Amino acid sequence: MSALERCPHPVIGGAFDSPVPPGAGWPGDAATTDTPVATAPGEVPGLAAGAADLAALDAVVSRCRACPRLVAWRESLATQGRRAFAGQPYWGRPVPGFGDPAAAVLVVGLAPAGHGGNRTGRVFTGDRSGDWIFAALHRSGAAALPSSVAAGDGQHLSGVRITAAVRCVPPQNRPAPVERDACAPWLDREIGLLAGGLRVVLALGGFGWDAVLAAARRLGWSVPRPRPRFGHGVEEVLPRPAGAPVALLGSYHVSQQNTFTGRLTEPMLDAVLARARELAGSPGPGARPSL
Ligand code: SF4
Repeated sequence: MSALERCPHPVIGGAFDSPVPPGAGWPGDAATTDTPVATAPGEVPGLAAGAADLAALDAVVSRCRACPRLVAWRESLATQGRRAFAGQPYWGRPVPGFGDPAAAVLVVGLAPAGHGGNRTGRVFTGDRSGDWIFAALHRSGAAALPSSVAAGDGQHLSGVRITAAVRCVPPQNRPAPVERDACAPWLDREIGLLAGGLRVVLALGGFGWDAVLAAARRLGWSVPRPRPRFGHGVEEVLPRPAGAPVALLGSYHVSQQNTFTGRLTEPMLDAVLARARELAGSPGPGARPSL
């Protein structure tokens, strides 16, 4: 794929540039050419705080250009593509959260995958990690479909929203501390906008766990000291100044490094998701959202 080549979306067709311009008709793209752009880390907190709802937040996240290294990386992947996805356009922009705007459970991963979310524009969509978490969400009753392959595929979540601590794909899956910190206000605002009904945060991996604890502190929640250590199945209660406390649950990340080696198995993931849904008072698999 070259930067000049326009390709059809795998679900809706048409012809899209890579990266995809805002307002071009990409399924789920909340942004337009009028959506403000953060061009430096110092601009992120104000734009995040100004997002009145999750749709507005998703829009402004998806136009962010605050981290020069990550902008260059995500766009280089988008313009180069990968042979397996030849002929497909690449989103190549920050990847916002996805799911129920009234979610009681928020799942927080690390960052989008270069040829997953960075290609499809939807978090945990179009790669092996996404196959794992969406299949588990489907088994738990939260996802309409057992897979998530492309924006516009009909997938939707009930009672659950899924997001990432860092919204742009980082080289080697390792954001720099300055990039992690630059992106944090987006997560703070996402949690804040969900907060009324939020009961459980499920952190995938130690990076997500630490990002949630840091967000909780910034939001004024009570976080034990010393900081609770991440582990699979670990639970912590985070009291809030107002409203019900939030339970923080840890799960090994659904990365291929964990799933291929058996460190994380389907029964382990199912059990932690069932616990999250139980703590949230969510209905079981029989109440799965319909298409
Ligand atoms: Fe913006 Fe976050 Fe991407 Fe940095 S990582 S450019 S703050 S969306």
